[in-house]
Amino acid sequence: MPDNDTTPAIEFQGVGKRFGDNVVLDGLNFTVAKGDRVTLIGPSGSGKTTILRLLMTLEEANDGLILVDGQPYTHEIRGGKRVAISEKRRSLVRRRVGMVFQQFNLFPNMSVLENIIEAPIHVLGIPKAQAVARAEDLLEKVGLADKRDARCTQLSGGQQQRVAIARALAMEPEILLLDEVTSALDPELVADVLGVLRNIAETTDITMLIVTHEMQFAREVSNRVLMFDGGKIIEEAHPEAIFTSPEHERTQEFLRAVL
Ligand code: ADP
Repeated sequence: MPDNDTTPAIEFQGVGKRFGDNVVLDGLNFTVAKGDRVTLIGPSGSGKTTILRLLMTLEEANDGLILVDGQPYTHEIRGGKRVAISEKRRSLVRRRVGMVFQQFNLFPNMSVLENIIEAPIHVLGIPKAQAVARAEDLLEKVGLADKRDARCTQLSGGQQQRVAIARALAMEPEILLLDEVTSALDPELVADVLGVLRNIAETTDITMLIVTHEMQFAREVSNRVLMFDGGKIIEEAHPEAIFTSPEHERTQEFLRAVL
């Protein structure tokens, strides 16, 4: 990517999302620059997960546009009307976005290596030998080179989550969405996963959008924090600033409750 490319990695333009009468997002605007590591924080029910689920295409917005690297993600404006883009275009732009879930979502009947090479071979059409070589590099990176042939069910939660991170990275996404990736882990396993993500943040220019209750994680990995309340961004700042001297009263209250 050229250095002067200022197209945002992610752009929400007037995004609205309702569940029945419950208006969760109403005309939400925000951008995430390329290479940014953005954490969404805020009380339960403030819309953070909905934002990730829209980007995971597990939910669809009712209004507005989502752009990924300047490309329409699910809808575009054509002839003045908001219309869905084709399935083919969706799947192409969606490949730029990798996802890691709270519950790992690995294929339990496959080995660690098979989990990682599956999509690169079948979705991207990469030759098997190349996919295996890349998977081995990634396993090295997440500290699991010795688990290459293990069944996922033989691994600890922390190890499974590191496999899930390697699997997401194997698709060479430009954006990584991290949805409460440490919430299902025993406390002693959280540090390993955070260490891996910190390393990825330090050694790649991948854009990250993170939802987490772990404020330490937000502090160590992200360079920008967005505080949500009632589906709106009420404060945004560098983690050091927001955690040490939050300006908004609601942010102060939220941080008092969670820190
Ligand atoms: P957060 O991640 O900040 O806790 P969510 O995005 O999960 O917030 O939820 C925002 C609001 O949307 C809540 O009021 C929640 O009840 C509602 N909501 C989320 N998902 C659904 C769904 N699938 N069906 C109905 N309501 C939902």
